[in-house]
Amino acid sequence: MNFLEEKIVKDGIVKEGNVLKVDSFLNHQMDIELFNQMGAEWKKRFAGKNINKILTIEASGIGIACIAAQHFGVPVVFAKKSKSINLEGEMYTAEVESFTHKNKNKVIVSKKFLNENDHVLLIDDFLANGCALQGLIQIVQSAGATVEGIGIAVEKGFQSGGKIIRNLGYQLESLAIVESMDWETGSITFREE
Ligand code: 5GP
Repeated sequence: MNFLEEKIVKDGIVKEGNVLKVDSFLNHQMDIELFNQMGAEWKKRFAGKNINKILTIEASGIGIACIAAQHFGVPVVFAKKSKSINLEGEMYTAEVESFTHKNKNKVIVSKKFLNENDHVLLIDDFLANGCALQGLIQIVQSAGATVEGIGIAVEKGFQSGGKIIRNLGYQLESLAIVESMDWETGSITFREE
């Protein structure tokens, strides 16, 4: 097991409905030393890639992206969830369905912060069905920018997102891929590298 898998086994909680709760270290209280290790690992895995910007989505991607950005020496832009409908002129927009909240959000990024010269690393905490990532990819494409890679902390390998994103040809680096989890026993298994 790698460092993140060990942390998930130690402090993650399996909930009914295929939800993994990691709020004691990933998306509520944040373990910054762990984030730092994650950033170093992505830097290694994306070595040689020309990355000048990190794009993530609020809220739980932001902390991870910021610490990772220190390893890449690049700024972070986060897609904001928005209720406004009249922003098409100045903003790139995408619809994202939330796995955890079961609702749809419009996410927006200002045209000031993403353009055709950008080479973007996408970062997020979870990959489940891939809706959040597909929204971010759509925004990068609208800007005429390039997705250089995708870094995910926890991929739920038994949901369809990972397959969809890899089939699109992107370099997707998930630091822990959960193969199965059982909320009654609390057991978690990971995909072998
Ligand atoms: P997707 O769009 O890939 O279906 O889901 C990704 C988003 O849903 C992530 O940004 C994350 O916030 C949330 N998410 C999906 N599955 C889980 C889970 O098992 N646990 C937690 N804490 N968040 C999840």
